[in-house]
Amino acid sequence: MSAKVRLYVEHPLGAGQSVPLDRDQAHYLFGVMRMGVGAKVALFNGRDGEWTCDVVEAGKRAGLLSCASQAKPLQMPPDLWLLFAPIKKARTDFIVEKAAEMGAARILPVQTEFTNSDRIRQDRLQAHAVEAAEQCGGTYVPDVAELQKLGRVLDHWPSDRQLMFCDEAEVGNALELAADAHPDAPWAILIGPEGGFSENERKRLHGLAQSHVVSLGPRILRADTAAVAAMTLWQKNLGDW
Ligand code: SAH
Repeated sequence: MSAKVRLYVEHPLGAGQSVPLDRDQAHYLFGVMRMGVGAKVALFNGRDGEWTCDVVEAGKRAGLLSCASQAKPLQMPPDLWLLFAPIKKARTDFIVEKAAEMGAARILPVQTEFTNSDRIRQDRLQAHAVEAAEQCGGTYVPDVAELQKLGRVLDHWPSDRQLMFCDEAEVGNALELAADAHPDAPWAILIGPEGGFSENERKRLHGLAQSHVVSLGPRILRADTAAVAAMTLWQKNLGDW
């Protein structure tokens, strides 16, 4: 019998390993899902793959699972970062959720000149990434970084990491991803805010040696749509699709 519920835990997973549940997890499994001792649950922690586990103790506020067998090895996504400027709360949540589903390795909210918000709830965004991984069958959870200034991120840009710069000013210009020149390089995608990029930012990004300026077609997309479209393009051309 395979497990119907998939849960992220922080605890190490391995053959014979016992995994204590916290209050919320116990409430979810035994209160909401009405599971009891002997039920099977799939666990993953982002490091040890997915494990089929048996419920050993089921209480209202606590519980214990035991790892029986590994159902999936850890599957890492390609080394792709998604950089985006946070927009309204629901749309920012959407971007993080979709980035986790689409196989980003790391999610970096960045503050650009025209970014609307100067604050994010990193813990909430990280929780969205966990939920997305639970739901999409992923064994890896992308890390969501704290909000940083784009300029700062570019100051320390890794010399080998290629950047797919989605520039709305390129609207209508053909997509060009010079992938062949960087077959195994790590990559990042950059999506701007609702207000787009400033001329200064654009100048700097066009001048960056690792930058590949990309158009996402003849229409201006909202930032959340642009993030999904860009990740689709990248995954199809250079990723694990
Ligand atoms: N207000 C801006 C649009 C910003 S859209 C304007 O009217 O020009 C938000 C972000 O999505 C952009 O900064 C860019 O990164 C991305 N984007 C949207 N449509 C795009 C397109 N057709 N080509 C490239 N990038 C696009």
